[in-house]
Amino acid sequence: MDRRIDRETTTIHKMVEIYCRDHHRENNLCTDCRQLLDYAEKRTKSCPFGKDKPVCADCPVHCYKPEMRERIRKVMRYAGPRMIYRHPFLAIRHLLDKRLKAAPLKFRS
Ligand code: SF4
Ligand SMILES: [Zn+2]
Repeated sequence: MDRRIDRETTTIHKMVEIYCRDHHRENNLCTDCRQLLDYAEKRTKSCPFGKDKPVCADCPVHCYKPEMRERIRKVMRYAGPRMIYRHPFLAIRHLLDKRLKAAPLKFRS
């Protein structure tokens, strides 16, 4: 798997963990959060942009179902600012990835 996609998958995982721990008091993910994470990982791995994938928040296509999009947004809004304290390396890399959004988007062939 592409390293950036791999890193993004890890970042989503950490964010859902932070959200679930603080809202649902689960050490491991609750069923709803596990379902959301599985969905997000599937979308990320089959992203039509391939290695040129932008961060999902800046995506012009947004392939998530509306309900899942709203759920992941909630998680990101909450966990995003907390990532810098809990997983600083991933948080910084995510900010750098966001800066790459201006690159031309190409669908993989
Ligand atoms: S939302 Fe956009 S960037 Fe994210 S996986 Fe779907 S198509 Fe790819
Ligand atoms: Zn949960």
